[in-house]
Amino acid sequence: MEIETDVPLARLTTIGTGGPATAFARPGSVTELEEAIAWGAERGLEVRTVGLGSNLLAADEGIDALVVRLAGDLAGVEIDGELLRAGGGATNAVCLHRARDAGLGGLEFACAIPGTAGGGVRMNAGAYGSDWSAILVRALVVSAEGSGWLTPEELGLEYRHSRVRADQVVARVEYRLVPKPVAEIKLEVADLVARRKATQPTNKRTFGSVFKNPPGELGAGRMLELCGLKGFALGGALVSPRHANFVENAGDATSEDCLGLLREARRRAHQQFGVDLEHEVVFLGSLTL
Ligand SMILES: Cc1cc2nc3c(=O)[nH]c(=O)nc-3n(C[C@H](O)[C@H](O)[C@H](O)COP(=O)(O)OP(=O)(O)OC[C@H]3O[C@@H](n4cnc5c(N)ncnc54)[C@H](O)[C@@H]3O)c2cc1C
Repeated sequence: MEIETDVPLARLTTIGTGGPATAFARPGSVTELEEAIAWGAERGLEVRTVGLGSNLLAADEGIDALVVRLAGDLAGVEIDGELLRAGGGATNAVCLHRARDAGLGGLEFACAIPGTAGGGVRMNAGAYGSDWSAILVRALVVSAEGSGWLTPEELGLEYRHSRVRADQVVARVEYRLVPKPVAEIKLEVADLVARRKATQPTNKRTFGSVFKNPPGELGAGRMLELCGLKGFALGGALVSPRHANFVENAGDATSEDCLGLLREARRRAHQQFGVDLEHEVVFLGSLTL
């Protein structure tokens, strides 16, 4: 397995910002993943995993770590009865297609979530009333301390949160799905995708929802819209004119530009609603609000 150096994180994140990672590897099996982790440990480098980078903001100065992106067998998908077995690096799109072709439903909610199986576990990603905790049977978690299969309860899946630590890698997952006619799955996915396109900036460079929805009736997006943030720009970063809980890279944004928008959004939400918004996007490297 090749280890590359100084790989720009801007290439690995959907927002397209972020400086270099000291080391970068694409392990294709659990053995290669363990070797990569050991290689990092020998050099005092912490391990960080990047899936599709669809919920990540990486520091402009980069990160002194070994970044891994799962590949090969650890990005594959297979169907076994009503179980879907996937590598942590398998994309949601591929999992959904394989499930649909096998006449298995349950993953439709993830049709507009552009991430991987491992990223879904780590974030307990979700939409339209469902999330990873509804389908996950167990996940194989690998770290310098060893590896083991954990249940959703052991993983502590809650609203956009899990207990998966930054140095732990979700290498494999198993989902339990349910038999469903292919035509029904297709219809439901088409409907969800259309709903998504009508309300969110689906064709822009973003990292998905910036903030978690606070408790109460008012979602983060509507709250920030009421704060007058739609279209507010800083450097190359822009609060989406379509949905105020999205930040777009409108050209040559830096992570610091994005962070500036997050700070302003939190300031205004606190001032106007007395709410301390918690960011959903994960920070990689030394970024603070
Ligand atoms: C247009 C758009 C729409 C989105 N819509 C939604 C939505 O509806 N609902 C929703 O919940 N999210 C949404 N997101 C956010 C994002 O897609 C999800 O959080 C997704 O699950 C992240 O997966 P990823 O593989 O891209 O993870 P990354 O963004 O690469 O990483 C996110 C976190 O997961 C960790 N991670 C990634 N892979 C692994 C692994 N194998 N093992 C351990 N840790 C790992 C990373 O270290 C990081 O901490 C959206 C994003 C975009 C850009």
